[in-house]
Amino acid sequence: MIPPTHPRYRSLVARERLARYAAEGIVSLEGLAAHGRGEAFDYLLGERTTESALLAEKVAAALMRGAERPVISVNGNTAALAAELLAPLQENSGAKVEVNLFHRTEERMQKITRLLRDHGVRVEEGVAERLLPLSHDRALCLREGIYSADVLLVPLEDGDRCQALRKMGKTVITIDLNPLSRTARSASLTIVDELTRALPHLTTFCSSLSGEEAAVLAESFKNDYFLEAARDTMRRGLLHALD
Ligand code: ATP
Ligand code: MG
Repeated sequence: MIPPTHPRYRSLVARERLARYAAEGIVSLEGLAAHGRGEAFDYLLGERTTESALLAEKVAAALMRGAERPVISVNGNTAALAAELLAPLQENSGAKVEVNLFHRTEERMQKITRLLRDHGVRVEEGVAERLLPLSHDRALCLREGIYSADVLLVPLEDGDRCQALRKMGKTVITIDLNPLSRTARSASLTIVDELTRALPHLTTFCSSLSGEEAAVLAESFKNDYFLEAARDTMRRGLLHALD
């Protein structure tokens, strides 16, 4: 039992969850390593949602609201950390949810789908086809899901796939604590925030933004601004810590 008074309670709970879901075969061992890299960057951010990240979350909600065919692509880490946060986001954004795994096996696909459904998420079903310009199984997706999406939310994505989705002309929103990653630099919009802090904000903004406000936000953002703001917070955090 982790004491709620522990100063790093949230981080310890997340680790416990990931370890448990790794034992169940939902999270891959590679996913655990990726989480560690995220935590290091979160430390530099101060483990909080910055003002610029909150603005990015608002813009992301605006993009999802304005989309014709929004899709949320869910991997093992996202399902393990945030299954209960996805149903409200799906409700408010109207997005389809598709499971898409880097380390894809039929068994993991089924376990993750079941976990999401147990938390009230409507998960797309169908026969995956090789539709993305990528090698191996990462090319697999649903024709009526990711392949047809105009706006995609892909939390904790890998850079390669993010670039492939952009090349297909899609608006790609990612959530990534590392503003230096290829994912962060190649997405249309990068939310530099921790997944479980970011999703509830997105959900709230999806219902609170007026149509007019959403249209203005979706037109006028620059991803470089959000990346530079995150780097700047981290630069200052690091200098302060090393002083
Ligand atoms: P690339 O440069 O191709 O994007 P990458 O190493 O970033 O490489 P992955 O390892 O697939 O690609 O991405 C995982 C990334 O997701 C981590 O590096 C980390 O920054 C981020 N991440 C991990 N856990 C979280 C989390 N809970 N919330 C937000 N971001 C996270
Ligand atoms: Mg990445």
